[in-house]
Amino acid sequence: MNILVINAGSSSLKYQLFHIENDTVLAKGRVERIGMETAILVHEPKDKPEVHEVSEILEHTTAIRKVLALLVHPEHGVLASTAEIHAVGHRVVHGGESFKSSVLVNHEVKQEIKRLFDLAPLHNPAHMLGISAVEANMPDVPQAVVFDTAFHQTMPAQAYLYPVPMALYRKHKVRRYGFHGTSHNYVSDRAAAFLGRPLEQLKLITCHIGNGASCAAIEGGKSVDTSMGMTPLEGLMMGTRSGDLDPAIVPYAMGKEDLTIGEISSMLNKHSGLQAISGLSSDMREITEAMEAGDKNAKLAFEMYEYRLRKYIGAYAAAMNGVDAIVFTAGVGENSEALRKRVCEHLTYLGVEFDDAANRTGRGLERRISTVNSKVQVLVIPTNEEWVIARDTYDLVQSTTH
Ligand code: ADP
Repeated sequence: MNILVINAGSSSLKYQLFHIENDTVLAKGRVERIGMETAILVHEPKDKPEVHEVSEILEHTTAIRKVLALLVHPEHGVLASTAEIHAVGHRVVHGGESFKSSVLVNHEVKQEIKRLFDLAPLHNPAHMLGISAVEANMPDVPQAVVFDTAFHQTMPAQAYLYPVPMALYRKHKVRRYGFHGTSHNYVSDRAAAFLGRPLEQLKLITCHIGNGASCAAIEGGKSVDTSMGMTPLEGLMMGTRSGDLDPAIVPYAMGKEDLTIGEISSMLNKHSGLQAISGLSSDMREITEAMEAGDKNAKLAFEMYEYRLRKYIGAYAAAMNGVDAIVFTAGVGENSEALRKRVCEHLTYLGVEFDDAANRTGRGLERRISTVNSKVQVLVIPTNEEWVIARDTYDLVQSTTH
């Protein structure tokens, strides 16, 4: 079965075409600058040269039409016809409290995703555009939606409520939802397989550290806490996001700097984090290089980033009354030897025995970076959110046809 996975943003769209039984990616690519005359389409078919196209793509329906045309193109394509696409899976950021797992798209599901626009105004409307665009091009193909929030719906009330008047929760659904759930779910499964132990018996702390970053406490395969909250702003310090701060700073800074709601929101989401402290970049590679070249602000940004991550690991070990394994994933987690080393060297109190040589080898592979006998195991597991979306879509379609 071939499954097309789509991650639609407001002006971009990423895709991957999976052949499930063979566990292969037949093609992947992206469309950028949707809405412009000079939109860019990059198509990477398996075992064939990459294609770059610049053309007018004013909306998502056209973007999908062009992607489909390339997938079946005589020269650049990988399929004989679009009838060979058996289902489409979409990433959807916010599933609120309504979606506790992935579901097939129907009228009610679409209505519910629309009702959640308020909670994810930048993301959910774009995902809906993606769903409608597929419907317009392939009306008979089943579609599924996989939510970033769903995995964290197992959090207990003590973890998901904020200590503010309950009316905010009852009337406006103000609570913690958590994000990156697809990734936390995937790497926790893989960690159990790597360790050769049943997931049901494990206490895991998974650290998804990319441009956005979050930690999760996973007990017996269920998320019991995670660092992102009602929005992806809470928790760890990130590339451009502040993460946790005293909420009183918001009205204070607004008053002192004469900022609007939009301006303070933009400051905390787009102009904070590594970018603000280093004054240089939101990109961990550049921060590390500058730090190694002696840049003091880059060093401070790195140290704050690592310190805040380490504090969350400590908090989650306390939340679960112990931890069997800590897992690093995503761009920084998978690639930054320096960050992992500094975190692990401060976790000796938990019983982590760090293996420096292992930390420096095996990039791209699932691997252990603690000693085999370390009381708490430390793993690096490359994430694969698209694969989870494809697999969930496949399972949902299979369950309706059998
Ligand atoms: P996104 O959240 O956008 O999916 P990624 O998971 O791709 O982001 O992570 C991007 C981050 O990973 C960037 O900060 C980038 O600098 C960092 N990164 C990638 N490679 C390395 C590396 N070799 N060393 C340190 N950081 C890296």
